[in-house]
Amino acid sequence: MFYDVIIIGAGPGGIFSAYELIQKKPQLKVAVFESGNPLHKRHCPIDGEKIKSCINCKSCSIMSGFGGAGAFSDGKYNITNDFGGTLYEYIGKKQALDLMHYVDEINMSFGGRGTKLYSTAGTKFKKVCIQNDLHLLDASVRHLGTDINYIVLGNLYTELKDKIDFYFNTPVETVKILENGYDVVTADNNYTCEKCIFSVGRSGSKWMEKVCKELDIPTKSNRVDIGVRVELPADVFSHLTDELYESKIVYRTEKYGDKVRTFCMNPKGAVVNENTNGIITVNGHSYEDPARQTDNTNFALLVAKHFSEPFKDSNGYGESIARLSNMLGGGVIVQRFGDLIRGRRSTQSRIDEAFITPTLQATPGDLSLVLPKRILDGIIEMIYALDKVAPGTANDDTLLYGVEVKFYNMEVDVSEKLETRYKGLYIIGDGSGITHSLSHASASGVYVARDIVENM
Ligand SMILES: Cc1cc2nc3c(=O)[nH]c(=O)nc-3n(C[C@H](O)[C@H](O)[C@H](O)COP(=O)(O)OP(=O)(O)OC[C@H]3O[C@@H](n4cnc5c(N)ncnc54)[C@H](O)[C@@H]3O)c2cc1C
Repeated sequence: MFYDVIIIGAGPGGIFSAYELIQKKPQLKVAVFESGNPLHKRHCPIDGEKIKSCINCKSCSIMSGFGGAGAFSDGKYNITNDFGGTLYEYIGKKQALDLMHYVDEINMSFGGRGTKLYSTAGTKFKKVCIQNDLHLLDASVRHLGTDINYIVLGNLYTELKDKIDFYFNTPVETVKILENGYDVVTADNNYTCEKCIFSVGRSGSKWMEKVCKELDIPTKSNRVDIGVRVELPADVFSHLTDELYESKIVYRTEKYGDKVRTFCMNPKGAVVNENTNGIITVNGHSYEDPARQTDNTNFALLVAKHFSEPFKDSNGYGESIARLSNMLGGGVIVQRFGDLIRGRRSTQSRIDEAFITPTLQATPGDLSLVLPKRILDGIIEMIYALDKVAPGTANDDTLLYGVEVKFYNMEVDVSEKLETRYKGLYIIGDGSGITHSLSHASASGVYVARDIVENM
């Protein structure tokens, strides 16, 4: 079977590549290979009753399938070069922002119309943060919410399904270089194409590592972000979240000079498990529909760890820490801030007595047995710093779930066109290590599709 373009991975990167290719050149023969399920078949079995924690499904419905890791995400499209990836280093700041706005327009026309676009422009909180040694990053945030994000993805699939061949539950095993293209190998068949786009996201990180080694594509990796997910009553942060929805706040610790930052803020949201290569970590999301919202807000507090030579396996380091929490708690551990400060583990009765109801059933435990001291000290310092702009953050009942790890894919060696040293072989989205967000991953997909169309 021959295709003009084969896309590996149906996350936001792959979807927006496919969309743009077909928009700009409808006659192209395009296929998308995806190791997970179509959108309507994606279902995480954890129901909180019969199945309380991750059972390690063959393909994780949270991370894989049409929509990628973004399908059940909060659908926060951050339109900014300040965070979410370094796409601008390859394609320039203006073009990166233009593409993110273009993606936003498409999302609007496929069901997102009516959702709110928040902005930090002109906010008084910037000053309030600086006065308290905290730094608010600039961004516009489109909040689709998990529910509208799902609708947009469904509409995009309807648009694409008759124009493109989708192969679901079909992981690509490897890719071979041919004289005039590529041989894409799955368990049952081989498919050839002239151009190939890798868009395998974070769940495809091990695959990327293997394939880059096989194809001799240089990579580098030296970063992992480790921390906790904080959950507190929504009222504590409502003055910030009502105006900005998400506030990305950075703090430099007094003790070590490390940077700690808030990440993925979900007003009135829920904390969820995330399975990366069999390791259970924590994440969060929230719904646009008020009927599905909770009384709590959650966000991550992360410390970035950069390693220097000779250590290379930053993700392995993060995995080992996450494994410790899985070893002690059978999955994610939850601890009250008050218990952490008093040096005691949380118990189920202490959690039950708290003035907050956890949105994720996690094992009460002691995060100080899991997180390295330096990281934990940084998180505690930041909680006290945040307490000054959002009093109540450092309350005894504030819940900390651990661990949250942001694994970064190794950064692959690509040109300013996101093309590898092989002509027509592109690597985009989170799988490239260049993007870490919905908007950057989607923008990289559009960018590469345009380059392909121009050169075919
Ligand atoms: C719970 C959760 C909440 C999040 N919330 C937000 C948010 O609000 N805002 C934000 O900006 N970001 C958020 N993120 C991150 C965001 O989802 C990712 O940055 C984004 O999805 C990256 O897009 P991508 O297309 O590069 O990769 P992915 O979305 O990871 O998609 C890659 C796809 O490739 C498939 N694949 C992997 N290997 C193979 C293979 N060998 N063969 C075939 N298919 C393969 C995978 O199954 C997957 O479907 C969240 C992530 C999670 C898990």
